[in-house]
Amino acid sequence: MSTSVLPTYDEVISRYEPVIGLETHVELGTATKMFCGCPTVFGAEPNTQVCPVCLGLPGSLPVANKAAIEATIRIGLALNCSIATWCRFARKNYFYPDMPKNFQISQYDEPLCTDGYLDVEVNGETVRIGIERVHLEEDTGKTLHVGGATGRIHGATESLVDYNRAGIPLVEIVTKPVPGIGAMAPEVAKAYVAELRDVIRTLGVSDVRMEQGSMRCDVNTSLNRPGEEWGTRTETKNVNSLRSVERAVRSEMLRQASVLDAGGTITQETRHFHEDTGDTTSGRSKETATDYRYFPEPDLAPLAPDPQWVERLKAALPELPRVHRARLRTEWNLSELDMQSILNAGAVELIEQTVAAGASPEAARKWWLGELSRRANAEGVELESVGATPAQVAQLQTLVDGGKLTDKLARQVLEGVLAGEGDPEAIMAARGLEVVSDTGALTAAIDEAIAAHPDVAEKIRGGNQAAAGVLIGAVMKTTKGAADAKTVRELVLARLAG
Ligand SMILES: [Zn+2]
Repeated sequence: MSTSVLPTYDEVISRYEPVIGLETHVELGTATKMFCGCPTVFGAEPNTQVCPVCLGLPGSLPVANKAAIEATIRIGLALNCSIATWCRFARKNYFYPDMPKNFQISQYDEPLCTDGYLDVEVNGETVRIGIERVHLEEDTGKTLHVGGATGRIHGATESLVDYNRAGIPLVEIVTKPVPGIGAMAPEVAKAYVAELRDVIRTLGVSDVRMEQGSMRCDVNTSLNRPGEEWGTRTETKNVNSLRSVERAVRSEMLRQASVLDAGGTITQETRHFHEDTGDTTSGRSKETATDYRYFPEPDLAPLAPDPQWVERLKAALPELPRVHRARLRTEWNLSELDMQSILNAGAVELIEQTVAAGASPEAARKWWLGELSRRANAEGVELESVGATPAQVAQLQTLVDGGKLTDKLARQVLEGVLAGEGDPEAIMAARGLEVVSDTGALTAAIDEAIAAHPDVAEKIRGGNQAAAGVLIGAVMKTTKGAADAKTVRELVLARLAG
């Protein structure tokens, strides 16, 4: 391996053109598995949601789940794909302990949906990502390696396997290669996955939670010199957050450039992304399709979706995110650029829900793009996982609008919300953060300030109102910022008038 210093990103872009491609797996939220009636609840006791079919016992026969087929067709339609009028499942043969049949039922050369696209916005530009195919398959089980320090198989004393996930319907969405995006490649990759997630969430067919693994992304990256053929691609597996999608593309571009700069060649392989370092390391060399010995699944009938059924599904698609955002932009009275920054921050739905909970669009935007985005960035988490809910943000704003909190106190209350202390109202009470509106308490603090600054008081009595700032400052200090400055000013002037 090359040990040379990595080039800068700008250097990479000046010498190479990136081509990316994305393969995304989405676990469908059906009540039962793909080929049997087992339930699909997340987090159940290991090996309690299994039966002879999903355990691959001899003689058991699969039956395809109609709800999963319908969900896959709806995804295909939302991605502008053609829906096959006839297609088959295929066996993908390989051995791995988490796959009890020693083959996975998937689709090979006859996918259910083909040749679509998804438009994404990056830096105010629309990039059309071609969709090669959308097909349906079954998920594998999960292995757990215990006894070692890292949770990996190396150093483990034993391995456990949980087949609850085996047979859960899985949709694979494969893009066409995306060339011509230059320096934007990492952002385009992230924007695509974000848009795809939003589309699927809007369809209501999966909870698409990357951190729970119900949406998993493999990122293909290659570099070529301008005018030359596309380079050899690597496939970075199981990238588990939007931020990691962007980082994985960027780090792989840097790594490949350093290998190519040194006169080396890129090996076609899978690589693993590491959240902690942001680097990828080599996995296994990539199998080719022939290694899997695909053949049509003999235990399942072909799929032949009725074109009229497909038409009905198409007509019933919900308003998709792009159209939805355009409508919100008008309703919220925002510029393209403002809407783009909301989108980049992953805040569209959060702001929408905060507005639904009673806040104005301006206030909702201020909290989510300001204080909360800063916190999410500092902690390296997605905005939606930052620790405040839209309802809490709306309640906080109601307290500000009602004069119970100043902006400064509101930020302290928000600290409490993020620390898990409860809802804003409860935190305000528990921490004693309410605005001091009790004029008795304020008058006492004002008298104290006047006694401490007799010279200033004399100036104000003499008509120099600008001098009041010193006394207001003293009162704010005594009340630890819990007084409304405007009210204090009025009281100070009234006290010293005449
Ligand atoms: Zn089963």
